[in-house]
Amino acid sequence: MKRACVIGWPVEHSRSPVIHRYWLAQYGIDGAYEKEAVRPEALSDFLGSLAKRGYAGANVTLPHKEAALRLAAVADEAARAIGAANTLWLDQAGRLCAGNTDAYGFITNLEAEAPGWNAERRPAVVLGAGGAARAILHGLLSEGATRIVLTNRTRGRAEDLAKDFGPSVTVADWADRERVLAGAGLLVNATSLGMTGKDPLELDLAPLPADAVVADIVYSPLDTKLLAAARARGNRTVDGLGMLLHQAVPGFERWFGVRPEVTPALRAHIVASLGET
Ligand code: NAP
Repeated sequence: MKRACVIGWPVEHSRSPVIHRYWLAQYGIDGAYEKEAVRPEALSDFLGSLAKRGYAGANVTLPHKEAALRLAAVADEAARAIGAANTLWLDQAGRLCAGNTDAYGFITNLEAEAPGWNAERRPAVVLGAGGAARAILHGLLSEGATRIVLTNRTRGRAEDLAKDFGPSVTVADWADRERVLAGAGLLVNATSLGMTGKDPLELDLAPLPADAVVADIVYSPLDTKLLAAARARGNRTVDGLGMLLHQAVPGFERWFGVRPEVTPALRAHIVASLGET
């Protein structure tokens, strides 16, 4: 039996088991996907004994994403560029390998939900400068984006991020987040604002062109106020659940040997599970 897990501290909130167990059942695979609550000080030992514990690999969630990358023997290009790992596997020599599939998940979902969006055509505006924003910048730049305006409450964090990604990324003050929407082709909320239990995202979309795409990576609630406001004025919208589903695909394929599909039935299953919590 093949086994994988998600490692976090805490880990209870993770949706990964619901996604991977759905695919295990759908493809009739003799496998298991567990939750592992691992304290930060125990991460190194845990990862060192992955094979002994019977795991082919793991997902990594907060607060372990950066440490997992440091502890891996090999890292893929996305994990190195993003500075964090969310997917781990053991290669044939038993070495711990690290990847990051968040950028892949974001871009694949954007292409599925807003076909024809074009990274090169007009500037993208990204709100936020945390781990998720870092993955999104990597994804957009890999797709050929040449102008990205990054804005974050703490300007210094956005400046640090922009420095890592070069001259295509410029920083605007958080107070100017509406002004920079003029002429944009894509707006991405990569902050935690608008999430259940967090502050709302205060943003007047009036300057945003009506043909711009608006993506929110918050998925709880699924239909955020930002997405509802964007839809009401005619913008195409992309919710955060698709990114979560697509980022899970490469890990499942590595551990269980089948490339799984993101389907409307999987989406409905996860939406139902979100409603249960
Ligand atoms: P993070 O590293 O903690 O970053 C949080 C971001 O939100 C920072 O930019 C922070 O600004 C900003 N923020 C928080 N409270 C704010 C406030 N009151 N006003 C203005 N800005 C505020 O988190 P993360 O890992 O990047 O995740 C961000 C969100 O994306 C979370 O909601 C997470 O659930 C979601 N996410 C979704 C997916 C998916 O697959 N859909 C994947 C990853 C993450 P400061 O720098 O000023 O603190």
